[in-house]
Amino acid sequence: MTSTLTLPPETASGDALEALIHTAAEVADPIAETAAACDAARAFPTEAFDLLDEAGLMTATLPVELGGLGLGARGSRHALYRVLEEVGRGSLPVGRVYEGHVNALDLVMAYGTDEQRAHAAADARAGHIFGVWNTEAADGVRLDPLPGGGARLSGAKVFCSGVGHVTRAFANGAWPDGSWQMVLLELENHADRADPDSWRAEGMRGSVSGRIDVEGLRVEPLALIGRPGDYTREPDFTGGSVRFAAVHLGGARALFDAAASGLRATERTTDPHQRARMGRAAIAIETGALWLLGAARLWERHEASCGAEEPGEVSARYASGDASPEAIVAYAQMTRTAIERVCLDVMELVDRSVGARGLLPPSPVERIGRDLRLYLRQPAPDATLDAAGAAALEQPHLARGSAR
Ligand SMILES: Cc1cc2nc3c(=O)[nH]c(=O)nc-3n(C[C@H](O)[C@H](O)[C@H](O)COP(=O)(O)OP(=O)(O)OC[C@H]3O[C@@H](n4cnc5c(N)ncnc54)[C@H](O)[C@@H]3O)c2cc1C
Repeated sequence: MTSTLTLPPETASGDALEALIHTAAEVADPIAETAAACDAARAFPTEAFDLLDEAGLMTATLPVELGGLGLGARGSRHALYRVLEEVGRGSLPVGRVYEGHVNALDLVMAYGTDEQRAHAAADARAGHIFGVWNTEAADGVRLDPLPGGGARLSGAKVFCSGVGHVTRAFANGAWPDGSWQMVLLELENHADRADPDSWRAEGMRGSVSGRIDVEGLRVEPLALIGRPGDYTREPDFTGGSVRFAAVHLGGARALFDAAASGLRATERTTDPHQRARMGRAAIAIETGALWLLGAARLWERHEASCGAEEPGEVSARYASGDASPEAIVAYAQMTRTAIERVCLDVMELVDRSVGARGLLPPSPVERIGRDLRLYLRQPAPDATLDAAGAAALEQPHLARGSAR
């Protein structure tokens, strides 16, 4: 990595976005060098987050007026996907936590008040890592209203990436009427509630995705972001799944690179079977990259036609359905499903190419494959494909995507 990124405020320029992607690609290499040690020690990748911070990537998605670079805003969604892909190429556990950080800041920027936005931006600039912890077991989070506008929380969250290290996290929960409320916790004084040791998974060890107990925690009105139901507003909610698909694709690229360098080291690159497998893997990865490009393009057309509408607001104005919120959702469902397939194919091809010897620790192919196998398990894959299929059958214009 060469230097800390400084971009002019007008980030939408193509050159500035290219510079940002280049920075992410540069920082991915030193991050990759830290990944094996974090995996072995089951340790949170603190050093990698210092590198992301130094590179300006921890605040890059903030609006320019709040000290960021506007990455992901209108005209730069593809650059955001490329940055996520590069971070995922460096390390899937780092990519997981970084994607959560980006998601959390986006939620505050989209649904928070001016005060909440300014507060969160200041925290991000001060080095806090953000996360979104929405998944729960049977004892999910419940909110009881307090006089004065705050809430008392009960219950717990599971699969909390970065638990014990992430200091600003959404731990959303249900009001007594069942409506779903975003709650942004400040956690630096609540380390005792985090249980990083509950994360015993073989893959994604460095993501430290353990449990947190929020029983009895009281939060001020400032912690309640948006209105009930905002978290699942479309097309942002389902459309957001493209972000994790971008990280997954970065993992597939890292697998490819590790296998290719193994084949070069063992002088097996001229064998036609190896070439055929790696050719198929390269084609699969490029297919994933094109899905990301298509998803970004559709978003950008959608945003252009939204004008000054509120983020997430579903508009009835898209008679053609071409870049409608429904089309964004259908395309995101297809993108996520397609990239999952890409990753599974690359994993199989690479495993066959490197063989048993190439899968013995400390082989990076073994570690990255172990991470990708687990991280590919995202919510509701069956329902996602079902919805994409329903769109394709019943409203085909929704499934035609970016090129039309
Ligand atoms: C490394 C890692 C980090 C994570 N970090 C976070 C985080 O920071 N924040 C967060 O909120 N979450 C996080 N998660 C959770 C993640 O977002 C998913 O919610 C979780 O991985 C889904 O678990 P599952 O595959 O067991 O889900 P399940 O929903 O149990 O799905 C398993 C299978 O069952 C199917 N299925 C689902 N529902 C039904 C049903 N009703 N009937 C029949 N079949 C069904 C699915 O389609 C799928 O095939 C993380 C997960 C991982 C692996």
